Amino acid sequence: MLRKNIETFLGCDAEYRPASMVLFGAPFDSTTSFRPGARFGPSAIRHESFGLETYSPYQDADLTDCEVFDSGDLELCFGSSETALVDIESRAAEILRDGKFPLLLGGEHLVTLGAVRAAVKKWPDLHIVHFDAHADLRDDYLGARLSHACVLRRCHELVGDGHIHQFCIRSGDREEFRFAAEHTDLHKFDFSGLEELCGWLVRTDVPVYFTIDLDCLDPACFPGTGTPESGGVNFLQLLDAIRKVSAARVVAADVNELAPMLDPTGASTAVACKVVRELILALCHGNTKRK
Ligand code: MN
Ligand code: MN
Repeated sequence: MLRKNIETFLGCDAEYRPASMVLFGAPFDSTTSFRPGARFGPSAIRHESFGLETYSPYQDADLTDCEVFDSGDLELCFGSSETALVDIESRAAEILRDGKFPLLLGGEHLVTLGAVRAAVKKWPDLHIVHFDAHADLRDDYLGARLSHACVLRRCHELVGDGHIHQFCIRSGDREEFRFAAEHTDLHKFDFSGLEELCGWLVRTDVPVYFTIDLDCLDPACFPGTGTPESGGVNFLQLLDAIRKVSAARVVAADVNELAPMLDPTGASTAVACKVVRELILALCHGNTKRK
C-alpha cells in the first residue's frame, strides 16, 4: 500500500489521540550569540534518527512500546523572539491541556522559555532540572533580555528561588555565578549532587521540567553546537543522569542546541538522536512506573 511521505523521529508514529507523548520542533536560532545553525537541529535529528535502532540495550526498552506522536516543526518568526515564544508556549499548552507530555526539540536554548511558560501555568510549583555548559543566567545579553544566554534567568522569574537545579555548568560571567549562589541550585562541571536531588524530587513528587542543552557534553563527542565549551561530560554520564531525572515526576522536557552543520562528520547529530531516543525511553518507562 502506498503511504504518505512524512518523516517523524524514529519509532514516533503513533496517532495523536492514543499518544502519551508529543514531539514538536522549534527551529529557532535568532539570538544565538556565537555560531548560528541550531534552527536546523530538529529536522536533522528526525532525518538521522533512522541510523539508530528503536531498541535500547542500555534500558532494555524499545520505542515501538511507546506511544509517541511527532507533530513536526513549528513555523516560527525569526525576527521576533517574543512572537516565536508565544507560538511555542501555545503548542506546549495545547499538548498539556490534552493530558500529554510535550517533548520539545530546539533550536537554541531560548525555546525552553516558551514551554516553561506553559508548564508553570499548569504547575505553579514547577522545578526545573537544567543540564548545560553555560549558566544562562544573564539578565540581558547585549541589551536583549530574550536570549539563549538569559533563558534560565527568565525562567527564574517564573519559578522563583530554589526551583532551578543546574548541572555541568562550567561557563558564565562572575555575576551569573553570584546570582546562582543566591537564587538557584548550581552544580559545577558534572553531575555531582544529582543523585541526592533526584531522591528528593522522587520523595516529594514535585512536577519537574527537564531541559537538556546538549553542549553539557564535551566538544570531543559533541562539537556541533554554537558555543562549544571544553571540559564536559561524556555520553554515558549523560545517559545515566537522564535515567536518574526520569525517575522523578517529569511533566515536560526539551533537548536543544544541536547545530548540525557545524559538525560535518555527522557525529554530533548522531549523539543528539541517541540522547533523544534514550530520553523518550526513560520518560516512558518512568511514566508507566508512576501509573
Ligand atoms: Mn543553554
Ligand atoms: Mn550551553
